[in-house]
Amino acid sequence: MTTANMDAIHEAILDGADGEVLGELPLPATMRAAVVRREDEDVFAGVPSAEKDPSRTLRVEEVPLPPLGAGEVLIAPMASAINYNTVWTSLFEPVSTFRFLERYGRQSQLGARHDLPYHIVGSDAAGVVLRAGPGVTRFKPGDAVTVHCNDVDLQGPEGHEDSMLDASQRIWGFETNFGGLADVSMVKANQLMPMPTHLAWEEAASLGLVMATSYRMLVGENAARMKQGDVVLIWGASGGIGSFATQFVLNGGGIPVCVVSSPQKAEVLRDLGVEHIIDRRAEGFTFLDDDGVPDEAELRRFGSRIRELVGADPDIVFEHPGRSTFAASVFVCRRGGTIVTCASTSGYLHLYDNRHLWMRLKRIVGSHFANYHEAWEANRLVDLGMIHPTLSATRPLEEVAEAAGLVHRNEHAGKIGVLVGAPKEGLGVRDQAKRDRHAAEIAKFRELG
Ligand code: NAP
Repeated sequence: MTTANMDAIHEAILDGADGEVLGELPLPATMRAAVVRREDEDVFAGVPSAEKDPSRTLRVEEVPLPPLGAGEVLIAPMASAINYNTVWTSLFEPVSTFRFLERYGRQSQLGARHDLPYHIVGSDAAGVVLRAGPGVTRFKPGDAVTVHCNDVDLQGPEGHEDSMLDASQRIWGFETNFGGLADVSMVKANQLMPMPTHLAWEEAASLGLVMATSYRMLVGENAARMKQGDVVLIWGASGGIGSFATQFVLNGGGIPVCVVSSPQKAEVLRDLGVEHIIDRRAEGFTFLDDDGVPDEAELRRFGSRIRELVGADPDIVFEHPGRSTFAASVFVCRRGGTIVTCASTSGYLHLYDNRHLWMRLKRIVGSHFANYHEAWEANRLVDLGMIHPTLSATRPLEEVAEAAGLVHRNEHAGKIGVLVGAPKEGLGVRDQAKRDRHAAEIAKFRELG
């Protein structure tokens, strides 16, 4: 249920009301939001990770609106998306995100607003600016925006070359409160980007976190710096970050070798133009024995399979499954090549044979999300029609926990969008002619929904 004021705001946005009208519509006192609660922190004690069900902890509640401070903006997300970090929050793994909110609370008066008994989650949004706080210059009420989920204050010198190095760097909606899975979200003005004109709300909302992460890992200056002709092994190539990694490699003149776990996923990638695909399930690849020790014969079989497909070892390995694949990633990477990693979905304690790394002069590069400039550049590629959303399905806000469960159980592909203010899919497009030119690419992942 939304309040009358919130309904009026959504209607005005859908009618295309201008910023002046929107800026004067009264805000409601409370709103719908997807939250986890501090009191639930221990509900999964003793439950194995795979058996934890996000619907026990992630629910939609009526909560007060976020406050607005200097340099901040209130937006009405018309859509958001499920990211793996919302799965982590709902499972209280690897740590409870209330620890992040408490730390933020200790840092400053403004940070203290985030330390609440509930955590409004969500690190993506596409919507409209409702209110701009003092000092906001680039965006105003009525602007259609997507959100870059990097929250920094840049008061120290460390982050001024790369804001991901800022000591206060946080992921909005994961390490901060007031995320995108809510009727009203609070962001810093330097998190906003113009929404690509040819996309619907849910498509635009599905891009931000995963696309910018992949951009930094492969394209930007700060991680693997792929060049034309590079062979790039991509794990989970039809998943959130993997589906963008695949597009960036194709778009940048690289040669992707894509790992997936079903023929349907392989087919969609083939349709995107990928030539070299390994179905890890069909080909039975398991790299660790029962004690978690890498199986050298299996690593060799995987390396041979890649050579058979593409005739070379990968220049870059796009790594994120972690424990279960890391030894293979280090092994198959070419002499002098780069393993770029941003996650450890299957476990963060990795066991691999270090001789394969040092004797062949390979590099492991850690990468985390992306700075504003990297995110802006990635967003620009979408607006130019060179990179496309990989939305496979959407769910209404009320079904957010089921949607998170699908991602947790790896029963999804690409991205799952969440409708917040938008009553149905397909709304928010402002350039229909441009959309028509890219309709087939935008729809590609839909068959996996
Ligand atoms: P996702 O949509 O679930 O996709 C991950 C894909 O990886 C899955 O679809 C699956 O594809 C594959 N996979 C999962 N477990 C695997 C395993 N044990 N072995 C081999 N492949 C496996 O998730 P995502 O959004 O892409 O995120 C992936 C990870 O990156 C998560 O841990 C997330 O938290 C992290 N992440 C980190 C950052 C950062 O800034 N540091 C940003 C975004 C995401 P197949 O089953 O088809 O092989």
